[in-house]
Amino acid sequence: MREIGHFISGKVIAGKSGRFGEVFDPNTGEVQAKVAFASRSEMEAAIATGAAAQPAWAATNPQRRARVMFKFLELVQNEYDSLAKLLSSEHGKTVADARGDIQRGLEVVEFACGIPHLLKGEFSDSAGPGIDLFSLRQPLGVVAGITPFNFPAMIPMWKFAPAVACGNAFILKPSERDPSVPMRLAELLVAAGLPAGVLNVVNGDKEAVDTLLTDPRVQAIGFVGSSSIAEYIYATGCAHGKRVQCFGGAKNHMIVMPDADMDQAVDALIGAGYGSAGERCMAVSVAVPVGQKTADILVQKLIPRVESLKVGPSTDPQADYGPLVTRAHLDKVKNYVELGVKEGAKLVVDGRNFKLQGYENGNFMGGCLFDEVKPSMRIYREEIFGPVLSVVRAKDYEEAVRLPSEHDYGNGVAIFTRDGDTARDFTSRVNVGMVGVNFAIPVPLSYYTFGGWKRSGFGDLNQHGPDSIRFYTKTKTVTARWPSGIKEGAEFVIPTMR
Ligand code: NAD
Repeated sequence: MREIGHFISGKVIAGKSGRFGEVFDPNTGEVQAKVAFASRSEMEAAIATGAAAQPAWAATNPQRRARVMFKFLELVQNEYDSLAKLLSSEHGKTVADARGDIQRGLEVVEFACGIPHLLKGEFSDSAGPGIDLFSLRQPLGVVAGITPFNFPAMIPMWKFAPAVACGNAFILKPSERDPSVPMRLAELLVAAGLPAGVLNVVNGDKEAVDTLLTDPRVQAIGFVGSSSIAEYIYATGCAHGKRVQCFGGAKNHMIVMPDADMDQAVDALIGAGYGSAGERCMAVSVAVPVGQKTADILVQKLIPRVESLKVGPSTDPQADYGPLVTRAHLDKVKNYVELGVKEGAKLVVDGRNFKLQGYENGNFMGGCLFDEVKPSMRIYREEIFGPVLSVVRAKDYEEAVRLPSEHDYGNGVAIFTRDGDTARDFTSRVNVGMVGVNFAIPVPLSYYTFGGWKRSGFGDLNQHGPDSIRFYTKTKTVTARWPSGIKEGAEFVIPTMR
């Protein structure tokens, strides 16, 4: 059986702990590889490697660091097809969707190519007599990223591209469910000219993560995953004096106003609700039609569309979506559907018994649609992360603003309307981090920042965009007096710029 080790000091090395996780083929349910779980000492060795390599990398001028990023872009683009297939084979998303996963990561690499400009500090000439004041952005040292299964190319790149471009060394602990693409990306970054040891990929579970959280050499931790783990990482990392940002789960609502273009809204709900089998943190999992008439029309239009979703192997170019990542996750999603029925929601499309001929043991599930979901139900309050859309009927616009605003999660939200006043009012008032207007999955482009609110985000700074440069650097402010001949005698009061 294929064994996936670690990427440390520019080389793939075998795991030594004797502990492994299973990497499945979601299409067949079979184990396709074993991934090594690092011990505390293996992780410590990777941190030491990063700490040794970082000073020279930080001293490499930013134009040279940018050139490595440009070359990396080229190398990834040359391997686009094979990377997308590899990603799809471990995750289960379609190959076309896997290409999008890589593309959204590369956009952050493109952003990081601008690092000479992004790292420019501020300068105030003659802030006092012969005194200039300026600020520098300096790297933190060794930083780490812990990433989820659902975007195995995009999220690692969101983390390591800005971190490394800023002059840090980076330890990536990818998801144990689909580790092969992150490993390959690290090899390509070294092939692009990154010195060995600056980016290390260490596979593992809680033991590896806890080492990162407690080792004093690790200055900052970026995490993406479920909210309960995000809370743990945030609290533990902060308690150990680290800079921490954690992005958690989601329950993204899409409001459909009576004046919306219904066909456009239905297309948006189908794509955003069921694409990638609903395994996206920005998936729409709650549709909120406003008014009974809008709800009736919407549900009637959704039913045939959900029933005719094409579920297929991830290799099938005609498939709308592929299998879920693991059997355990499939079972969890099905249990939520059963719970919804028990809670009294109306299951108007039931995809639980879907079977795909020739792939009977794959993790496939048809689309499910619930109507009459109430805010008190667990299927509304909790993240399901599967191809399940819940319709919560709002009696008016005010209720539609209140639902996402009062929900524990606050990642993304969308409103579909033709009315500019409504869209503007909603955008301003809704208590959620990322908003779409007639746009179902409002993932900002790389030069803006990405981050949710409430239980979807912990910490002060977002991912990518200008916040990523702030997160991965510390600001030093210098007050300098030249020429040196200025003599004012000893001053016993706090200096002021007279
Ligand atoms: P997860 O929380 O199970 O795992 C995320 C990472 O944490 C993995 O690397 C995993 O190995 C590690 N981990 C798991 N349990 C741990 C523990 N007890 N201690 C320390 N580390 C642990 O999440 P997942 O299932 O891989 O990903 C799906 C989740 O990620 C969903 O909740 C989804 O909404 C969320 N997500 C959020 C965003 C965002 O930007 N807000 C983006 C993508 C995914």
